[in-house]
Amino acid sequence: MRRTSPLILGGGPAGCAAATLLARAGAKPLVLERTRAPQDIVCGGFLSADTVGLLEHVGLSASALGAHPITRLRVIAGERVQEMALPFMAFGLSRRTLDAALLAQAGDAGAGIERGVTLKMLDRTQRRVHLNDGSTLSGDTIMLGTGKHDLRGALRPPDARGSDPAVGLRARLAPSTHLSYILNNVIELHVFPRGYAGLLLLEDGAANLCLSVSRSHLAAARSPAALVAALARTNPLLGDRLAQAHATGPWASIANIPYGWRAEPDRPGIFRLGDQGAVIASLAGDGIGIALASGCMAASAWQRGGAEASARFQSSLSARTRLPLQVAGGLKWLAERPYAHGPLLGLMAHMPALARLAITATRVVTNPRP
Ligand SMILES: Cc1cc2nc3c(=O)[nH]c(=O)nc-3n(C[C@H](O)[C@H](O)[C@H](O)COP(=O)(O)OP(=O)(O)OC[C@H]3O[C@@H](n4cnc5c(N)ncnc54)[C@H](O)[C@@H]3O)c2cc1C
Repeated sequence: MRRTSPLILGGGPAGCAAATLLARAGAKPLVLERTRAPQDIVCGGFLSADTVGLLEHVGLSASALGAHPITRLRVIAGERVQEMALPFMAFGLSRRTLDAALLAQAGDAGAGIERGVTLKMLDRTQRRVHLNDGSTLSGDTIMLGTGKHDLRGALRPPDARGSDPAVGLRARLAPSTHLSYILNNVIELHVFPRGYAGLLLLEDGAANLCLSVSRSHLAAARSPAALVAALARTNPLLGDRLAQAHATGPWASIANIPYGWRAEPDRPGIFRLGDQGAVIASLAGDGIGIALASGCMAASAWQRGGAEASARFQSSLSARTRLPLQVAGGLKWLAERPYAHGPLLGLMAHMPALARLAITATRVVTNPRP
């Protein structure tokens, strides 16, 4: 079997995990990444225990990156508040810091990293990538890790996103004494009709505000800032948090999120990683974990079977993510419906063990070590 170096499209957590492990195994993967410098993308910044363990496997420590420890979950519906201990130790970390560390780690391991490269189209049959500058690259193995961004030639089916798809929004809130006190060791989820907002502290004391709302919700408000102002009026405790801090920098957004979608085996040699392989409802806070796990799984599948291992890898990722995606989808459905908020908070108050079991069921329990 001829084994050429894998081409990795996208330098997010999925692409970087695959690149690091492949390089450590002696391959010469090449990562192609659109951004030229670290950025903050739409993400809650919540690192679950799964994610932290996978980061360690890749060679990074969340604590050493300065991540803020999180031990408790607070769910807020209108004026009702319920808090419980998480079933694991978690962290809050900005994507700017995390993604920069992951790319540096892949480069240190020996992977080639090219930044400022925008991919235009993927020819899956020829295993050829067309870049925006008109050039092309090909490889026996293509690992597609462009996240929620669809690449021409490898589009997800339009029905994957549903009739009123979710939109993700994210802003950084300047450090404030009030937020530092309220969010110490806590992640807050503010639930409301057709969406939720997540709030946690980051490594530099700023807070990360991230929302997932239906497209119609955002369209009715006309802009992210107007939407958040309206939510602050109808959700007094969210309003309280926002009154104490101001957003620094512009809103980042991502549209048409295909929550619940899982890729099936594709053409030989095509590995779909991270959000290109499985998209978990974001309120579960395990998308980065799935991305890292899929990168680790793809690297070890490639070492065992080369490009031809892609079908087995994809089936295995799909099987491994099925239950967590279903449970997370169910929790999202409940969180978006006001009549379910009472039972949801009641479950946390009176049956915390069951609530913790539900949270644990949204994790992709993986063991990427050989
Ligand atoms: C609202 C919201 C909140 C979330 N909160 C959390 C959370 O708290 N915790 C958690 O674990 N997960 C969370 N997630 C999910 C998490 O962000 C993703 O699952 C994770 O980032 C997927 O990693 P990835 O490597 O597959 O893709 P990405 O992280 O999206 O990385 C893809 C990379 O590919 C590059 N790229 C894309 N297109 C091109 C192109 N054409 N050419 C070149 N490069 C390209 C991008 O620049 C990027 O660097 C959230 C998601 C949303 C929408």
